[in-house]
Amino acid sequence: MLAYKDRSKEELLELKSQLEQEFQKVKAQGLQLDMSRGKPSAAQLDLAMGMMDVLTSESDLKCEEGVDCRNYGVLDGIREAKQLLADMTEVPKDNIVIFGNSSLNIMYDTIARSMTHGVMGSTPWAKLDKVKFLCPVPGYDRHFAITEHFGIEMINVPMTMDGPDMDIVEKLVSEDDAIKGIWCVPKYSNPQGITYSDETVHRFAKLKPAAKDFRIYWDNAYGIHHLYEDKQDYLIEILMECKKEGNPDMVYKFCSTSKVSFPGSGVAAIAASDANLVAIRKQMQIQTIGHDKLNQLRHARFYKDIHGMVEHMKLHADILRPKFETVLTILERELEGLEIGSWLRPRGGYFISFDAMDGCAKAIVAKASEAGLVMTPAGATFPYGKDPKDSNIRIAPSYPTPEELAKACEIFVLSVKLVSIDKILE
Ligand code: PLP
Repeated sequence: MLAYKDRSKEELLELKSQLEQEFQKVKAQGLQLDMSRGKPSAAQLDLAMGMMDVLTSESDLKCEEGVDCRNYGVLDGIREAKQLLADMTEVPKDNIVIFGNSSLNIMYDTIARSMTHGVMGSTPWAKLDKVKFLCPVPGYDRHFAITEHFGIEMINVPMTMDGPDMDIVEKLVSEDDAIKGIWCVPKYSNPQGITYSDETVHRFAKLKPAAKDFRIYWDNAYGIHHLYEDKQDYLIEILMECKKEGNPDMVYKFCSTSKVSFPGSGVAAIAASDANLVAIRKQMQIQTIGHDKLNQLRHARFYKDIHGMVEHMKLHADILRPKFETVLTILERELEGLEIGSWLRPRGGYFISFDAMDGCAKAIVAKASEAGLVMTPAGATFPYGKDPKDSNIRIAPSYPTPEELAKACEIFVLSVKLVSIDKILE
């Protein structure tokens, strides 16, 4: 297909009027479609319904420690849940602390604690003139919302196919002691689906930050969320790597079962060095007498062990894979060669990231909404909601049915084509 930029003005105008007619036809259907949030579909949630039958009024509700899970006790997670989440995160059981139902909540608490009480004895960040975070972009909007909420200055670091640009990361963290952290989604990143390469993880573990209280916020939200059995990404385990490099305390690792069992009703955990966990538990014992042990028990008994969880994730993949394929097939069929957009083909996670021509993302999202399609707002994948190139759009294929998804993609590609023609003709 001939690239749009190489077509004459007359050709583009004629094409535009054809596409506009097609657009008006779909618009007239009065559709209501949503490709904005990375939520599992009802069919995926059904996969874990057996968990509802695991605990009954007849069940023995004592956990391995012999504690009655209906009552207070066991601050940082029952043994069987720790084992399950430790295996899921590839860390020793003693390096994990179980929290409540949301890893984002743990990340928020971790930053809040650093603001008010510092990190393992350092000056509380709230007492410092400036606190900064590195933000690989495009990234996860809710990470950026936390740091923005606490008045932390965010610095964009471009993503490469191997993860964040490590030349920039190394330079900035070694020069500026106001930089206290970096947000990372190291496996099947949100939104690009990129997995950090071995070299990137090695370079992270070897960082020499100017700030002693610098931490890597390693949000492994999609650690076991593969789309294919035979094509999977592998990520080096960062906790061990940091230990080997003499930086054992430099990383906090976060995970949850939100997209394994039930978002909002899963189990979340932090993994870190012994020293970090001492500081975390010290605050935790003030904050709570203990999290929901019945939910921890339910998860441990339902999955049994990591093998049960891996099998369960294959069932998720069977539902998600055709949806990703639908989107990718339509993007390839309709847009390849036109040079008006590019995208990656992820092997896991929840998103497809689309880069439109510069200056087009907002207009594409607005155009799609005219025809009843809700997309993630353009800019959301950048700190402060500002994409300097106005180019990135996050596509979330998980929630709609395959039929809805095909319609949604039709609207999306029409919007991309129409907005791009206008841009070229400007
Ligand atoms: N981290 C990332 C990268 C996510 O994409 C999401 C949800 O979309 C979360 C965390 C939310 O996790 P939780 O439900 O455990 O708070």
